[in-house]
Amino acid sequence: DAKLSELDPEVAASIDAELGRQRSGLEMIASENHTAAAVMAAQGSVLTNKYAEGYPGRRYYGGCEHVDVVEQLAIDRVKALFGAEYANVQPHSGAQANASVMHALIKPGDTIMGLNLAHGGHLTHGMKINFSGRLYNVVPYQVREDTHQVDMAEVERLALEHKPALIVAGWSAYARQLDFAEFRRIADLVGAYLMVDMAHFAGLVAAGLHPSPVQHAHVTTSTTHKTLAGPRGGIILSNDADIAKKINSAVFPGQQGGPLEHVIAGKAVAFKIAGSPEFKERQERVLAGAHILAERLNQPDVAAKGISVISGGTDVHLVLVDLRNCELNGQEAEDRLAAIDITVNRNAVPFDPRPPMVTSGLRIGTPALATRGFGEAAFAEVADIIAEALITDAGADLSELRARVQHLADAHPLYPSVGNLS
Ligand code: PLP
Repeated sequence: DAKLSELDPEVAASIDAELGRQRSGLEMIASENHTAAAVMAAQGSVLTNKYAEGYPGRRYYGGCEHVDVVEQLAIDRVKALFGAEYANVQPHSGAQANASVMHALIKPGDTIMGLNLAHGGHLTHGMKINFSGRLYNVVPYQVREDTHQVDMAEVERLALEHKPALIVAGWSAYARQLDFAEFRRIADLVGAYLMVDMAHFAGLVAAGLHPSPVQHAHVTTSTTHKTLAGPRGGIILSNDADIAKKINSAVFPGQQGGPLEHVIAGKAVAFKIAGSPEFKERQERVLAGAHILAERLNQPDVAAKGISVISGGTDVHLVLVDLRNCELNGQEAEDRLAAIDITVNRNAVPFDPRPPMVTSGLRIGTPALATRGFGEAAFAEVADIIAEALITDAGADLSELRARVQHLADAHPLYPSVGNLS
């Protein structure tokens, strides 16, 4: 039972270094969060040792009485959280949740529709070299060039023309809300299944601050680690008994072997937290922070440099910065913020003229900072720091901005109870 630092000082040192990086910098990657120490405790537990192929009460292994309790807690809590009748909490990731749904409901060669990756969709919604693009005939829909919002008239036209078996509604880089009822109307019109992938905005839905897709979609998938703030993983929700049965067998044995019960324990804890008034209050700060950021990045000093906000603002936890008319490209902007210890990711914007490794955009999210306790004043300060960093001349001294970031990080301590390993 050697301590990690004694057995493997290299790994222990890297974990400590990552804890230090998270503490001293500001995490603004929209798909990330700081999960609760209690979630990490559940995840770092002896449950990792247990094989539990099957589902609670119907396992292919002995000794599952305790993991059964854990998995049933996760199922019951996530059903209550989102008002769903059926839940599968076993997908190892969001990608596997999506793969399982497609495996359950459609056949290779069938047509699927999803938001174009270059317009904010996810790899699993039909990208060419992803399983979704290789197995299915993909008809992507887009955002409108004038509004940067999904064009529902185009979705309907494409659906009528191509008769998809499945329509995917959801996104990885989009700052507005989708019209789930309209997606369902179109799906019904052509006899397609509607799958909503709420990975990004699930935390907002749980808090009641974003319309829920669960009553509209045949199936709703999500990751558990973005706005929902749990461990890395996936879930699948449905209100249809037949679909739920197909999905259970598509997850296991269709896609996966033994479920990660230690991760499922972390999911159970996260779902409990997500049902609390504190979680709702946190998500309100997520949204307030994103609004503040969008407003600051719409100011004249920023606009003068050719920088704007895709779709003009945000309804969710992220802002997409449009650098198409700016000398600074996405890679340079990401590097510049990294130099002052703000982590974001460059992101292609719709109709992006620059190549995917460079891009003309930044995706900036507020969930991790809200988890860290940021309120409106702190978000206004970080928004100002970002704006100043982006409009400053290349090669300028950024030390004053970095000091302001340090001040914000120090004022919002992260994981005060988590100790170093080495
Ligand atoms: N779906 C959406 C909309 C996502 O944004 C992501 C991750 O970025 C995923 C699915 C995939 O999740 P994972 O990385 O857990 O496979």
